[in-house]
Amino acid sequence: MSKFWSETVKRCVPYVPGEQLNDANIVKLNTNENPYPPSPKVVEAIKVEAERKLNLYPSPTVDQLRTDIAEYYGLSKDNIFVGNGSDEVLAFSFLAFFEAGKPIRFPAVSYSFYPVYCKLFNISYEEVKLNRDFTLPVEAFFQTDGGVIFPNPNAPTSIYLEIDAIKEIVENNPDQVVIIDEAYIDFASESAVSLINTYNNLLVIQTMSKSRSLAGLRIGFALGNSDLIEGLTRIKDSFNSYTLDRLAIAGAEAAIKDTNYYKSTTREIIHTREWITAEMKKRGFHILPSQANFIFVSHYNKQAEELYAALKDRNVLIRHFNKPGIDNYLRVTIGTNKNMELFLNKLDEILA
Ligand code: PMP
Repeated sequence: MSKFWSETVKRCVPYVPGEQLNDANIVKLNTNENPYPPSPKVVEAIKVEAERKLNLYPSPTVDQLRTDIAEYYGLSKDNIFVGNGSDEVLAFSFLAFFEAGKPIRFPAVSYSFYPVYCKLFNISYEEVKLNRDFTLPVEAFFQTDGGVIFPNPNAPTSIYLEIDAIKEIVENNPDQVVIIDEAYIDFASESAVSLINTYNNLLVIQTMSKSRSLAGLRIGFALGNSDLIEGLTRIKDSFNSYTLDRLAIAGAEAAIKDTNYYKSTTREIIHTREWITAEMKKRGFHILPSQANFIFVSHYNKQAEELYAALKDRNVLIRHFNKPGIDNYLRVTIGTNKNMELFLNKLDEILA
């Protein structure tokens, strides 16, 4: 701790992401990245942009990309905000809609960035315990003082909440903002985006990091009523009017248009998810019903931490959370079939 640190910095508890090991021999199933490369059209668009336009500032309003995303969802560009990964969009949303003294609610088992932002921005919060089966206790999110945020599907549990339940939560918080963090929605049944024309207090946040294979490019976006979007834009312009660089904008425009490509890789991942779930059940794992590109599992007699370490010794990296209530669970990202076969082989070695 330095004497030069402000009270804000002292309050910060930095988020620690999954390990990033750059060893080519590692099978990396720990940070929910997409195992497939992005669409070739994305790579081409980035090349063209890099060759021609890097001497020029990017558009501060990112109109074309916002229009493309809006068209994809049948909305207007005034309903779309874009940022540097959904982590940044989330940070701006916390600043724009949540505050001290009016506690927001999110699940106790959820994306670990939420409490980090609350501490950083001095926002009050209450963590809501999940049901025993890890589903969301819907009514516990009614009538909040400050608003609601949760991922759907939830992370790291992978469980999806039906749209009707989301409607109830939104309707029971008429004067607060309800944020649905849909990082993994393309691997699930239905997005809440269809509700934003009906409810002016609903903000949906999505990312191109997962289903669009663009974690390295950092593109996230929010969809909501134009008043909410204007609030986010005010926050952004107070920091940096150019949050997305030219390469990210060019890549994102190509990605949002190449629907066929991402739908086919998504189908492949869902297929692999169903196959690996069946295989792991045969090996004594309990697996929560996943609608994401990862599974959340525990073994009937092996400790999660031991399995994590034994896999790491064999160059397979998965995620273990040292957190009460989930410390005997493991989160495994769905990789290619080949990677998952290797993962199963290593598991068989360990369980033998
Ligand atoms: N929300 C959730 C629930 C996540 O798991 C992640 C990925 N770690 C993010 C948001 C952030 O994704 P990105 O910043 O890459 O868009």
